[in-house]
Amino acid sequence: GSTIGILGGGQLGRMIAIAAAQLGYRTHIYAPEDSGPAADVSSGWTRGAYEDAAALAAFADAVDVVTYEFENIDPSAVEVLATHGLVRPGAQALRVAQDRLAEKRFVNDLGGLTAPFAPVESLADLEAAIGQVGPRAVLKTNRMGYDGKGQARLSGAADASAAWDAIGRQSAILEGFVIFEEEFSVILVRAADGQVRFWDSAANVHVDGILATSTVPAGPLIEGQVDQARALSRQVADALDYVGVLTLEFFAGADGPVFNEMAPRVHNSGHWTIEGAVTSQFENHVRAICGLPLGDTRLAAEEVEMRNLIGAQAHEWQAILSDPANHLHLYGKHEARPGRKMGHVTRLTL
Ligand code: ATP
Ligand code: MG
Ligand code: MG
Repeated sequence: GSTIGILGGGQLGRMIAIAAAQLGYRTHIYAPEDSGPAADVSSGWTRGAYEDAAALAAFADAVDVVTYEFENIDPSAVEVLATHGLVRPGAQALRVAQDRLAEKRFVNDLGGLTAPFAPVESLADLEAAIGQVGPRAVLKTNRMGYDGKGQARLSGAADASAAWDAIGRQSAILEGFVIFEEEFSVILVRAADGQVRFWDSAANVHVDGILATSTVPAGPLIEGQVDQARALSRQVADALDYVGVLTLEFFAGADGPVFNEMAPRVHNSGHWTIEGAVTSQFENHVRAICGLPLGDTRLAAEEVEMRNLIGAQAHEWQAILSDPANHLHLYGKHEARPGRKMGHVTRLTL
């Protein structure tokens, strides 16, 4: 059988590995840690730094295709890797998606709407940027942020200095605050031959900067904006010659869909697809990167709700399982720290 190499060993890698196993593939993880949620379900684990191009190349030589569940890897290392084997999606997708400025410029160039934004490299830049995007704004580190980490909100120029300190005075972007009603994501899978399939768009609710729930169907406001968001998402995928699952997050406001950010991978807002769609995001990602035909992405229930189990919420598992409509997923993390994603529960209404 063939082996899929996965950069990153967290819960996304775990769920990719489970889907891969069902299709007869083995998985081998490459990650800087000793172990992680993906370890229990993969056949191998190489501990290595994401900056170590030589170790990455050796890893690529040992597997049949390389993919990632973690996108903050130096694209030049991924380019080296690509000379040693098949890497899907490619380095260009990483380059764009791991940098907030790059992704917004990329989407603007394709005609997509974003919040007004300006690059920030210093406190003086930040003060000038507030003049450009408006006083109500969000300062975000350009790279590495997730679950709302590396962000500071401003309500005027008086907050500039504190915000600059709060994000650690690093390369950043200032975004104007978008007034929106709801949030949603477009998750698509693109095959090597260019075929694209979309899952239903979930309405995503965040609490304290972390995704709390994803619900499908999303409701009329989002449904009315999905076609436009999909058209843009397809353009992004085509322009990157993307292979695999790609996620774009949008705000649904009065002026139509506003692009927020993208992830070059399977996404938390698509976990509902494991039970709630005919083919899950994880299985279709494996199919796409392995050159297999794509599976049906249609909804498999009337309604689906995915709820993240964060921190101690994972202890509720017995109550969750006492309702037969619930499907519980625990990631095998040993320590339930506050804000840590421990698992999720998907509830189907058939
Ligand atoms: P993720 O875990 O999704 O990768 P992240 O840390 O990359 O999150 P964002 O998606 O940029 O962060 O922001 C987190 C949430 O903060 C958004 O889903 C949205 O609710 C809110 N938010 C972010 N940017 C803006 C903005 N410009 N205007 C209004 N709200 C925003
Ligand atoms: Mg993000
Ligand atoms: Mg986000």
